[in-house]
Amino acid sequence: MVKHIYIAGEWRLGRGHVIESRFPADNTINAHISTASLEDVEEAITKADQAWRQPQWRNALPHERAKILYKVADIIESRVDELSQLQTRDNGKPLSETRALVLSAAATARFTAAACETLNEELTTQRAADFMTMSVHEPVGVVAAITPWNSPIASEVQKLAPALAAGNAVILKPAEATSLIALELAKIFEEAGLPKGLLSVLVGRGSVIGDAIAQHPLVRKISFTGGTSTGRHLAHIAAEKLITTSLELGGKSPTIVLPDADLEMAAKGIAYGIFSSAGQACIAGSRLFIHASIYEKFLARLVEITQGLRVGHPEAPHVHMGSLINEKHLASVHRYVELAKAEGGTVVIGGEAITEGECAKGSFYKPTIITGLDNRAQTCQEEIFGPVLVVMSYENEQDLIQQANDSCFGLAAGIWTENYRKAWQIARALEVGTVWINTYKKFSISAPFGGFKDSGIGREKGRLGILSYMQQKSIYLGLNEQPNPWAD
Ligand code: ADP
Repeated sequence: MVKHIYIAGEWRLGRGHVIESRFPADNTINAHISTASLEDVEEAITKADQAWRQPQWRNALPHERAKILYKVADIIESRVDELSQLQTRDNGKPLSETRALVLSAAATARFTAAACETLNEELTTQRAADFMTMSVHEPVGVVAAITPWNSPIASEVQKLAPALAAGNAVILKPAEATSLIALELAKIFEEAGLPKGLLSVLVGRGSVIGDAIAQHPLVRKISFTGGTSTGRHLAHIAAEKLITTSLELGGKSPTIVLPDADLEMAAKGIAYGIFSSAGQACIAGSRLFIHASIYEKFLARLVEITQGLRVGHPEAPHVHMGSLINEKHLASVHRYVELAKAEGGTVVIGGEAITEGECAKGSFYKPTIITGLDNRAQTCQEEIFGPVLVVMSYENEQDLIQQANDSCFGLAAGIWTENYRKAWQIARALEVGTVWINTYKKFSISAPFGGFKDSGIGREKGRLGILSYMQQKSIYLGLNEQPNPWAD
């Protein structure tokens, strides 16, 4: 049976071609899904534009919108096992990871509901006796949310919750590989009482359907998570339309080990930072800088830890790494490893696909460590989005900062040291949007997230995250009988 998609509150077959959702661990087919046609895009957006203007939504009070999000959070939480399973089938991540993503999606919905209820408008300080000013925030209208396949449920709720809390309508275009979880989310929002038309989930190819959504004149904000080149393309569209964007893009995040670090904790943290999600994370700590004085010793321990990682079926318990998203992506990761060798790098561990045992049917790649490259090498500059770590050494802090910042990306960084004063100084010198000190890949919904440089524009999350889906209006109230200087 071909799965329906969600067009303006109706479940029905999209008028585009049918795609397959496959389980990347063994290539079996999860489902056949219909995709949206350009007519479906037009219909969904036109109805979304009508829906957000409906007085029942436009004038809904914050607690009424929050009520839906609280319910979404409860439903997601009550279905955590089933949703983690679904997301694992979609993208091959271990169940422990997808479970964490599902729970984080529930937490995001709940936090956003609370933020929505407690957000205050500004009554600006009075500057004259004859009028008073007030600043109010209003929805932008129809929002395009375009999402990738690596952490779908988390990145989708991170966009849907604040956009809807702000009073908008949303057209969600998930990655083709992970459309199942997005469709399930639509069911959850529907069950939670979201009025019809405010959400559509349009499955389809990014370059056709995603592009058509972004180009549509009624779409007034693009919220995107994905690759830098697609982000740049969407920014061009947004510039032409004079609308705002939130772009959450790629990374090549440096992690740094100072000589005084707790080396055991650092080695484990660094292995987790790059190899969890099989490196398919924009924040993966993919460039490692080790102080020259501890280089050999630290590298040896890191290799040992890497050797002990369990790569396997994502539904099996205690697995550290599942499969990559598909064969095409595996080939791209491997091409980078070959390029690293051609650039003079040495593969210390890994460097190949796993083609034996239960992994043979899927797209599994060994955790890989490469040494001997200069930070300027292409392998050190480009995002691989796989379990590949490049390791370099540094002599002093100046040299470290120079190398760490020598990247077009600026998403995140990790610092391992016992000296918090030094860590603070390095954190401030790094050109990145998030710095982790003695931890990595930790997230708090209340801390804004986003990138410097080619890693993106705008910040998601945080108490004020809702405001990025709104536009501000100033209202002046005349207070005296002669409102203008020409009055007699
Ligand atoms: P990734 O490497 O994570 O797949 P992409 O940037 O290719 O990164 O994809 C992220 C999302 O952007 C997906 O939903 C994809 O379908 C969509 N997308 C890809 N190309 C375009 C485009 N030209 N216009 C709009 N959306 C696109």
